[in-house]
Amino acid sequence: MKRILLLQTGGTIAMQIRRGSGGTLENNQSMNLTRYIPELSQIAHIECREVFFKDSSDVGPPDWEIIAATIRDEYHAYDGFVILHGTDTMAYTASAISFCFKNLTKPVIITGSQVPMSVIRSDAKRNLINAVQMATLPFSEVAICFSDKIFRGNRSTKMSIGEFTAFHSPNFPPLAEIGINITIKHSITPSGRQMECYPSFSESIMVLRLFPGMRPAQFLPLLENGVRCVIIAGFGSGNFPIQGDYSLIPFLETCVNRNIFVVMASQAVYDSVDLEKYKSGRIARDLGVISARDMTIESAITKMMYLLGRFENTHQIRDRYIRPLRGEMSAD
Ligand code: ASP
Repeated sequence: MKRILLLQTGGTIAMQIRRGSGGTLENNQSMNLTRYIPELSQIAHIECREVFFKDSSDVGPPDWEIIAATIRDEYHAYDGFVILHGTDTMAYTASAISFCFKNLTKPVIITGSQVPMSVIRSDAKRNLINAVQMATLPFSEVAICFSDKIFRGNRSTKMSIGEFTAFHSPNFPPLAEIGINITIKHSITPSGRQMECYPSFSESIMVLRLFPGMRPAQFLPLLENGVRCVIIAGFGSGNFPIQGDYSLIPFLETCVNRNIFVVMASQAVYDSVDLEKYKSGRIARDLGVISARDMTIESAITKMMYLLGRFENTHQIRDRYIRPLRGEMSAD
């Protein structure tokens, strides 16, 4: 039987409804979720470990480092890994962890639920059973398993607050569908080389979501705090205002003069940023702004945090950012 390490990190899946509250959720610390599903032992030999217990809004780079280092340290002792995690920032954690692992040869499956395990109509049981099953298969991806689908972690995003089908991967098809059979459609082919793990992230990032009426000069003081990269969530294919006080151009020039990376992403989740198509995009391109292409915003952010955490050299960072590292963006 396959050996699976199940890492608990918190989230709704492990919470409980406070008595008489009508739906308020609170932490249910140290709840061994496999106790709710004893049948899991028919699928795999599972060992559980609580790495921390948080609402995922509080999960960030130090926690990603703990999760990745735990998997690295136990890599040879298990056939696969399942991480139970809150849904709110699950796509960030999945993206971040995917960048940490080069030449992954085992499944790392992240799941959670919209309704706590302790509630009868919960989606937790189905998600956890699917995730454990998936973790027993020959599959070398960091993936999100949710509502009968497996998505590449660094292509995923939380699209719904209230639906059981909370996750999608807008620019990449699901890696597998879970029906009567599990059909794996895509998976990164391991290179045959040794797995490498680089669990460190920089937090010197700023994300700016543009809106009509925004005066970029107001945001210049934010660049004073050691920011090394600004990720801009622009309009459509990566467009932004270029007229009068609303023009983003002086802000971009300031970043460039201070050797701060600028990445142009989009507020639209489907399709790709294109810095050739419109005038503002071409100005950005000429200034050296990097296109996030079809990456999710979660990947655009965590990829830069990973690269800034791992490399010092500007060229090494830029060269790696513009090409796919772990299947997070489509090839040119
Ligand atoms: N707030 C919860 C969390 O992300 C939501 C969930 O797990 O669904 O931890």
